[in-house]
Amino acid sequence: MENIKLVCSACKVETEHEKAKENLYICPNCNKYLRVSAMDRISMIADEGTFESFADDLVSGNPLEIPGYEEKLQKAREATGLNEGVIVGKCKIYENECIIGAIDSRFMMGSMGSIVGEKITLAVEEATKKRLPVVLFCCSGGARMQEGILSLMQMEKTSAALKRHSDAGNLYISVCTDPTTGGVTASFAMLGDIILAEPKAMIGFAGPRVIEQTIGKQLPEGFQRAEFQLEHGFVDAIVERKDLKNTIGNILSCHPKSRSKIVKTVALAGRQMQIFKKMDATLAHETKEANDAAETPNTNPLSAWEKVLTVRKPTRLGAREYINALFDGFIELHGDRYFRDDPSIVGGIATFNGIPVTVIGIDRGHELNEMMRANFGMPSPEGYRKGIRLMKQAEKFDRPVITFVNTSGAYPGKEAEENGQGEAIARSIFEMSGLKIPTLSIMLGEGGSGGALALAVGNEVWMMENAIYSILSPEGFASILWKDGNRAQEAASVMKITAQDLNKLGVVDAIIPEFGGAEPANLEKISEHLREKISYFLNVTSRKSGETLAQERYNRFRVF
Ligand SMILES: [Zn+2]
Repeated sequence: MENIKLVCSACKVETEHEKAKENLYICPNCNKYLRVSAMDRISMIADEGTFESFADDLVSGNPLEIPGYEEKLQKAREATGLNEGVIVGKCKIYENECIIGAIDSRFMMGSMGSIVGEKITLAVEEATKKRLPVVLFCCSGGARMQEGILSLMQMEKTSAALKRHSDAGNLYISVCTDPTTGGVTASFAMLGDIILAEPKAMIGFAGPRVIEQTIGKQLPEGFQRAEFQLEHGFVDAIVERKDLKNTIGNILSCHPKSRSKIVKTVALAGRQMQIFKKMDATLAHETKEANDAAETPNTNPLSAWEKVLTVRKPTRLGAREYINALFDGFIELHGDRYFRDDPSIVGGIATFNGIPVTVIGIDRGHELNEMMRANFGMPSPEGYRKGIRLMKQAEKFDRPVITFVNTSGAYPGKEAEENGQGEAIARSIFEMSGLKIPTLSIMLGEGGSGGALALAVGNEVWMMENAIYSILSPEGFASILWKDGNRAQEAASVMKITAQDLNKLGVVDAIIPEFGGAEPANLEKISEHLREKISYFLNVTSRKSGETLAQERYNRFRVF
């Protein structure tokens, strides 16, 4: 092996095999991600010595009796030392048990013959039976021509197995590597609960040449690459090869094997009950104290209009700061799986005191370029659809959802209307209302109308001391009701938009003190208070059944 040299497919520079392997098969000259054999891939990801393959002895026949196919198979077997184009088995990744599979592109372009489909299906079935997560590395040219329609049947077979796996509440992580195309993309590659991709990997259904011939135009640079798929909402995250094991390990750790509520509560009891017991005794008192502090802060309380101005300051703490301060190991997930990733909604998985949670927030950015990227915190329909996807994912895996709401309103743009802004907001409220998991919504600053409401259907809704929550901006209110936008200040004072007003109306359950203002200098103090309150919230709610939580949420909004 030592003498074998690899030729980079991009820059054509040769590298010794061992050296390329050390460099994770990334070209040392041009950083091109070279293709990785299935066995190398698994050894990069699995804990050493934990991989046990199965179904290695399955061999393809020639079901359609295509001349030359058997010779081709024989050649591929000799070249790769494999019986077929995929390796499947069981392994551990940072101690997390899982079923893993990797396609080997050297075996007839990683095409999906019947045996490839069979092995993947067996792997998924085994995982479902044992309640284990599945991790599949895709690398394929698509269907295998020599097996015709029987190759296409593998799309149905593998997808159907994944559907059962998913319905039983199990995790599937798909990793798209270069290239992931055709029938593989149109089946198991795109069905992951979480879809990861390597940088610049080609991911698509139709090949670029076919598309160019059909439309009679050249495709732009980067078309169908991983980055393109991320932007279009189909990939959760692009992960560099050196970080893949860590990322997958972290995701697996956030998905404990058993979903059983009883087991979870007992496990929680063991780990956390002492903290909770102490808190049960003290928190009622502390909450009262903090709420009093919020009512009468050190500085003079701000007027409603002052609050309107305060929450619009670009320096005010936003969702990303709270997510980083309150949670550990945040893994950001992207995309609505339909159309686009909306940067104004940030969401993903993290842990809180070791408990996996899903967090979703409206990001507004602070610097101008960030603000523009986040569309000034005005989400588009695809942003709400990303939120819905992550909430449903949380429900599947029995994770609480915590949302951070901070928007002047949903984006009132042309495209937003074309893509169904109203439908997206409605759907978000609809789905969130019925979630069988604890949901907590925290209003950070501006709470503008339906665009805020879409993420605020919590079992509890909390508001920062100076946050506002309203049917529309005071300017808009004055302009519509009094035909005079200049009377915004007066409007603010009558609209009942402050946390204190809304607390009295029962719209919000708690006021979070800002200790002098929700600015970076006070992040630690505010977070400390929030951490205690969130611990308490999760402690109480995680003891309740999903049905009870949904019913309580229903009752909470039913009173209005
Ligand atoms: Zn190169």
